[in-house]
Amino acid sequence: MAAKILDGKLVADYILDKVKDKIDECKLHNLSLCFIRVGDDPASEVYVRNKERACEKIGIKSHTYVLHDGAVKPEIIDLIENLNNDDTVGGILLQLPLPDSFDWIDEIDIINAIAPSKDVDCFVESNVGTMFKGDSVLVPCTPYGIMEMLDYYDINVTGMNCVVIGRSDIVGKPMAMMLLHNNATVTICHSYTENLKDICKRADLIVSAVGKPKFINRDYVGDGAIVIDVGMNRDENGKLCGDVDFDGVVDVASYITPVPGGVGRTTVAALMMNFYNTNCSEDDELL
Ligand code: NAP
Repeated sequence: MAAKILDGKLVADYILDKVKDKIDECKLHNLSLCFIRVGDDPASEVYVRNKERACEKIGIKSHTYVLHDGAVKPEIIDLIENLNNDDTVGGILLQLPLPDSFDWIDEIDIINAIAPSKDVDCFVESNVGTMFKGDSVLVPCTPYGIMEMLDYYDINVTGMNCVVIGRSDIVGKPMAMMLLHNNATVTICHSYTENLKDICKRADLIVSAVGKPKFINRDYVGDGAIVIDVGMNRDENGKLCGDVDFDGVVDVASYITPVPGGVGRTTVAALMMNFYNTNCSEDDELL
């Protein structure tokens, strides 16, 4: 039997409606969410536009600062500090990746310049630490959106054998932590993992965040497994596709996310939840 599709648009619309109601109720319309985009990466332009649209949907202002390719670290940090000190700014997001002229140390310094209370991506180190402890209202958006999607479809990961492929700071690691906090048994795999197919085949739930088109085929997926595809790749024809060979896996899995229309949608919706949660009072948080 074909897997049930986990519909990212449906879940995202549900989340955005919920956030919009709370934004109205708490009268947060005067706060803005600021995006900083450096350089002219076309994918980043699309991602920021999608986030601006979500802001419109929930009735908050957004402002995008576009800095030229040759912008230097102090220039970006100056901008962030101005936004940190502006009471009308409720959230700041630095769109990654930065141009190649920035190394990973620059990236960490720039991210850490964002005030933790405005860090809607949950990438600032102090927020990451709190999130890893499991008692944070802020969570990186992609894993947050995935957990919301599982919740929407009444999928409880307690006791499940979950495999996360990928160990990036923005997806793999926080994803594994969130599954762990929800009482799953978690295996994190990466490019040095041996016997990846066997490990995946035994999983109840697989989250793939590798970044390789159609990397996960049916040989990796056990009967009835849940397959969450985080990948955003281009296939040989330049068409957007995930890490998972959807057509090959759909008959084996019990649930599967499509690309597009899956995790990308819930990621943006989760960003709006983070914006709301960082600006509302503690009693009003959406958890
Ligand atoms: P990343 O930083 O490049 O991490 C990729 C991970 O995959 C690394 O941990 C790497 O292992 C692992 N990997 C690479 N080849 C492997 C292999 N053959 N076997 C097992 N593991 C392997 O990427 P990312 O930022 O996490 O993003 C991953 C994908 O998700 C990309 O396609 C990205 O575009 C997409 N993405 C989508 C969303 C969304 O909203 N849908 C959000 C963020 C990212 P090592 O650590 O050993 O190198």
